[in-house]
Amino acid sequence: MIPFIDLNAQFKRIEDKVIERAVAVLRSGRYINGPELTELEERLADFAGVKHCVCCSSGTDALLMALMAWGIGPGHAVFTSPFTFFATGEVISLLGATPIFVDVDPVTFNIDPAQLEKAIEAVKNNDSSLYPLPPNIDMTSLVAKAVIPVDIFGIPAEYDALNAIAAKYDLLMLEDAAQSFGAEYNGKKTCSLTEVAATSFYPSKPIGAYGDGGAVFTDDDHIKKLLHSVRVHGQGGVDKYDNARLGLNARMDTIQAAMMLPKMDILDDELAARRKFAAKYTELLTPIDGITPPTVPAHCKSAWAQYSVLSDRKAELQAALGKAEIPTAEFYPTPLHMQTAFGYLGYAPEDMPVSFDCSKRIFSLPMHPYMQEGTHERICEVIAATLA
Ligand SMILES: *Cc1c(COP(=O)(O)O)cnc(C)c1O
Repeated sequence: MIPFIDLNAQFKRIEDKVIERAVAVLRSGRYINGPELTELEERLADFAGVKHCVCCSSGTDALLMALMAWGIGPGHAVFTSPFTFFATGEVISLLGATPIFVDVDPVTFNIDPAQLEKAIEAVKNNDSSLYPLPPNIDMTSLVAKAVIPVDIFGIPAEYDALNAIAAKYDLLMLEDAAQSFGAEYNGKKTCSLTEVAATSFYPSKPIGAYGDGGAVFTDDDHIKKLLHSVRVHGQGGVDKYDNARLGLNARMDTIQAAMMLPKMDILDDELAARRKFAAKYTELLTPIDGITPPTVPAHCKSAWAQYSVLSDRKAELQAALGKAEIPTAEFYPTPLHMQTAFGYLGYAPEDMPVSFDCSKRIFSLPMHPYMQEGTHERICEVIAATLA
């Protein structure tokens, strides 16, 4: 069986260092806010080229903390992609704000800037003839407030265009870089492309913890203070026992930070391996009719969280690969506007036609930095034979 993601191979490579650092935390007794947390935050901020990194308990909490620091809540419209993991939309609704979905580009599967502008105009003018709005929501008192572009599968969204639109309409920009830590846009790393960015260290992400984890990034000193406050129950009122606002318990454990540090040493090497393997897949798949390999825009480098392909014969391909002991995954069979939990918005499937279409034709092939020689050939032979 070929592994879809091989976390064991990575652990073997850094096992001694991970255990050494974990044991040091166990012996120190500093299980909360130990020095390893600051050490990791500094390394992550340096890597991303951003002034501040605030680590936290998950990617979901990272998104939530950013929105809470901005005071997002009832009466606010937050624009995002429907072609993403559930959490991106969930955090908007959890805070009582309204998610406004904007369909994706059919090539990158990232939010389409031209459609974003239409959706903003639709909200501002309360006119769903300009762009499909959630029919069950009373738009009259809704204020357009923020955009959460997602770097789906590790490919950065189109930030020059998106930031220009956000500036024009005075909207906050929060990058959901949960799948793209280490990716680049015009030579700049993800998490440095918008005023605030969030990433996830779920174990299968480009850099993972040994459990849940996440981080928020910003150059803004004031936002950093707010993030620190929100991370621990809104602390920082008039004295130590006064809470200035409502917050969360969203800290990252010291032991997680300590165990992630050895991963920072191998991250560039792992990203290079992912890029090499992605290029190999694309070389082998391009000549095959009936399957579309992913396209990374020339000004971007992907972090290759997933290698996702499109095919009208998806079910047949997944069955054939499964039979050959090659696992596949489906990201995402149900776009957010069609999720049961977002049924209250009242969207129809056809409101986001590209996401709806992709969700039926997309699936992901095994991708990780420790793939063995010959694996790509084996996988692509099964695909070619099935489609022949
Ligand atoms: C994984 C993921 C999240 C949530 O991260 P968790 O660490 O699992 O909470 C959010 N957005 C996207 C796009 C993701 O892939």
